[in-house]
Amino acid sequence: VRGTAAILSGSTGIIDPVQLTESLVAAARAIGAEVVCSAEVRAIRDDRGGYALETTRGDLGASAVVNAAGLWADDVARLAGITAYTLHPCRGDYYRLKKRIPVERLVYPVKKSGSAGLGVHLTLDLGGNMKLGPDAYYVDTKRDQADPPEAKRAAFAASAARILEGIRAEDLEYDTFGIRPKLRSPSDKEEKDFVIAEDKPRFVNLVGIESPGLTSALAIAEEVEAMLT
Ligand SMILES: Cc1cc2nc3c(=O)[nH]c(=O)nc-3n(C[C@H](O)[C@H](O)[C@H](O)COP(=O)(O)OP(=O)(O)OC[C@H]3O[C@@H](n4cnc5c(N)ncnc54)[C@H](O)[C@@H]3O)c2cc1C
Repeated sequence: VRGTAAILSGSTGIIDPVQLTESLVAAARAIGAEVVCSAEVRAIRDDRGGYALETTRGDLGASAVVNAAGLWADDVARLAGITAYTLHPCRGDYYRLKKRIPVERLVYPVKKSGSAGLGVHLTLDLGGNMKLGPDAYYVDTKRDQADPPEAKRAAFAASAARILEGIRAEDLEYDTFGIRPKLRSPSDKEEKDFVIAEDKPRFVNLVGIESPGLTSALAIAEEVEAMLT
């Protein structure tokens, strides 16, 4: 690893996000919650002091709504007549490292002031697979699916080589991408913080919950619980 100095974060860890979510679903069901998956909310209206939600799996009545729709949280808020939010899709690509390097921890560069992402960093999953990324660039649509141009592999390798010795473009293979829900527009100079707001009675919007939203999920849930009880 290249660098002048480093901070070791000894108490951070890696989790499997799918397993974490499944475990939270199981915990919720164990205390009586009904979890309805694949039910897209299409319309929301005020209904007798609560809300009526029209979904692709039928209608639901709710005494409280927590809008945690990620990239679509601004659109879901709009369904309830809240027009204050616009999310800007900001994509991040990952490249897989084809060779193993003797590094056992996640390695991050120092974030550049004003940049939209942390900078290309080394990520390990629970299986020890290594990925570089994500980078950060705004895209025109939340449904962007385009493959990155081939030239990007070399640019990515050059960026990774700033923190890891001996990384070359041929060591990388395109892996996957994610799209961040950014409240910060491409022309804004600084990052915008998460919004956790009860914009209508018992209607809480979680907007712009990008990284580290997963790490913060339980703390955000506690804050929402305090708002609603
Ligand atoms: C590339 C990348 C890397 C990241 N790395 C990290 C990391 O290392 N650590 C970390 O803490 N965080 C990380 N994050 C951020 C983390 O993934 C998010 O903060 C977190 O997933 C936000 O959770 P959420 O529930 O608000 O939204 P999401 O996880 O996006 O979930 C929103 C859900 O709402 C659903 N939905 C949308 N519209 C509707 C609708 N109309 N009706 C019903 N459902 C709807 C969606 O289908 C989805 O299931 C990363 C994000 C990206 C993109």
